[in-house]
Amino acid sequence: MKTRPLSQTVRVKMPIDLKGFDSLEMEHWTRQHGLPAYRGRQIHSWLFRRLAGSFEDMSDLPKSLRTLLACEATLNHLHLIDSVSSEDGTRKYLFKLVDGMTIEAVLIPERDHWTLCVSSQVGCAMGCRFCLTGRQGFKRNLSPAEIVDQVIQVRRSMETPERLTNIVLMGMGEPLANYENVVKALRILVSETGMNFSHRKITLSTSGLVPEMIRLGNDITVNLAVSLNASDNETRSNLMPINRRYPIEKLLDACRVFPLPNRRMITFEYILIDDINDGTEDARHLSKLLAGLRAKVNLIPLNPHQGSPFSPPPMDRILAFQETLIDHHLTAIIRKSKGQDILAACGQLSGKHPAEGA
Ligand code: SAH
Ligand code: SF4
Repeated sequence: MKTRPLSQTVRVKMPIDLKGFDSLEMEHWTRQHGLPAYRGRQIHSWLFRRLAGSFEDMSDLPKSLRTLLACEATLNHLHLIDSVSSEDGTRKYLFKLVDGMTIEAVLIPERDHWTLCVSSQVGCAMGCRFCLTGRQGFKRNLSPAEIVDQVIQVRRSMETPERLTNIVLMGMGEPLANYENVVKALRILVSETGMNFSHRKITLSTSGLVPEMIRLGNDITVNLAVSLNASDNETRSNLMPINRRYPIEKLLDACRVFPLPNRRMITFEYILIDDINDGTEDARHLSKLLAGLRAKVNLIPLNPHQGSPFSPPPMDRILAFQETLIDHHLTAIIRKSKGQDILAACGQLSGKHPAEGA
């Protein structure tokens, strides 16, 4: 292969990702440009609080600084290409990234607030057999700015953005497989000079990457949800290949040492699949596994999608499963997925425009 002499190498200056800057990086950038530190705080406030759509909007910055920003930085990492609303009020957003790839985020109405389900990767490498995102395979990691920008863009589209108070990392991708970028995005989401979300209102869901779970507990405080989905290793390995690397015992050991703030619990997600993991015996086994853990269980009847060999159990089996857990003193909630009619429910995200099909 011929290499160019250094003098001929074309240097393309990459625009900086202001939305992926934490307060220290912002401070560093302002200092580098000979600006006072408060200018950095002003820029962050425009980005994360006032949800500026352009540098021109940043009206209390001097014109020269707005011009500098326009030359050096990019503002919009995501381009909203479509949003659809479900009968139950759930809204699905389809975003195009700068390289043309697409991801989805889902805004879910709760009684007194909204929850946003954000993506952490394009596709997913974990290959869980029941999951549409998993079926696509892995395309790439999202940058911190691309993760944070999902929240900003959705807030910009809302009439009452302040009512979006809760974030769940349960969209496309395995957040702990994109560890550095996800933790950075989380820091920006919870920082006072960032988006100022409460630690208590952010939940990260993982398929069970044990070393990264332990790291996460030491690096930042957020709620943890673990996708368990089976009560024995054979069934779990069949459904979730990651279980071959980190079997149930190792996973639960990591949960036991996960640092939990007072009165908080780990949520265990358990998809109920007809004839696979929905027997009373499975429920009993699950209760035993979780005994002694500060745990609650979210039971999610499988959301079927085209081409999937699985289906959800009938309602009486779902209720019987829940009852067994409750009899064993576990908190178990049946989570009826919202947004099914617009393919926005758990495990249904494909990042494809409806016209392209799933
Ligand atoms: N990768 C992470 C987070 C994204 S998946 C994880 O696996 O936890 C978010 C949730 O959707 C997980 O709990 C997963 O088990 C669930 N899920 C995936 N496919 C599903 C389906 N077809 N029906 C119901 N839930 C599903
Ligand atoms: Fe990936 Fe989670 Fe889907 Fe498994 S369930 S393939 S980890 S997104």
